Amino acid sequence: MKNIITELAFQNDVDVIGFAPASRFDEGDPIFKLMPEAKTVIGLGFRVLRGIYRGIEEGSTYYQYTTMAVENMEETIMPMALLRVAVKLEENGYIALPQRRHQQIMAEADSTNPEVAYDAVYRNKTAEIQMNFADAAVKCGLGEMGLGGAVLNDEYGPMMRYCFILTDAELEATELAEAHLCDKCGKCIKACPGNAISADGKVDAWRCAVYYNGANGTKNPFMPPEAFADFEDRIKIISGEAEIDPEKARKILDKIYFYPPAQHSYQCSICGRACDMACYVHLEEQGKLKKGFASPFRKREEWKFDIKDFK
Ligand code: SF4
Ligand code: SF4
Repeated sequence: MKNIITELAFQNDVDVIGFAPASRFDEGDPIFKLMPEAKTVIGLGFRVLRGIYRGIEEGSTYYQYTTMAVENMEETIMPMALLRVAVKLEENGYIALPQRRHQQIMAEADSTNPEVAYDAVYRNKTAEIQMNFADAAVKCGLGEMGLGGAVLNDEYGPMMRYCFILTDAELEATELAEAHLCDKCGKCIKACPGNAISADGKVDAWRCAVYYNGANGTKNPFMPPEAFADFEDRIKIISGEAEIDPEKARKILDKIYFYPPAQHSYQCSICGRACDMACYVHLEEQGKLKKGFASPFRKREEWKFDIKDFK
């Protein structure tokens, strides 16, 4: 069964697959609320095209990341693979419960998902149980946790997205990945244009949302010089140094319409996940990634506009 599932997954755009026995999860883990009889968690990993990140790296094209690397992956490619693998399990007499992240629902009362519009998020929805996707990817042997919160995969580093199937089929486990990629270099933290990641790797979701959406003018080709005119600390906002709480984040996000969003409330990423790009470059430079390419990801010094352009 494991071989059949693996082959089918690879035929449906899955790049890496891992199998975690349910015993790897604590008794109180959401997976047991979702499916008390779960025996195996199947993790499916999909690479995000390196070329799509390069558009933002070069400042030449932004929309492709949001549409092709986030929206189409989450809404089309990943659900198709999930459904096909889940159907195969059910054809063989097992129960299969697909799990893709619901981007607009969260249990927290006052957090947000930077990838979607903050006012499209339904908060405090504890009745809608969601598993911890990063934790499950690690338990499926698909990677290790990096300091900045991304799962680092042996082949593609942080440039991956994950979804899962819970099943009552008992399938042979994938070994856990031995942590060897993250050396705590801190480059993911330093790369964030909004200083949204603290020294211990904790990501401030609201701050991340503000800068994921492009509040740092030195890295946003679409921001007009008079941006954020209503804010006293506009230069600090534009340079990524302002104090930002959830209320202020909402106000900034209301004024950040420099570039159109995609469908399904997905916001255009202007930071291009600079944290992940910096990590990828670091891992690639050290020759740690198994998937090689003909040329390195980073080809020239990073560009930046002058903050004086906004004064
Ligand atoms: S950039 Fe460095 S510290 Fe951050 S996740 Fe990657 S290897 Fe770890
Ligand atoms: S680089 Fe972008 S995605 Fe990463 S923490 Fe900063 S704002 Fe968020």
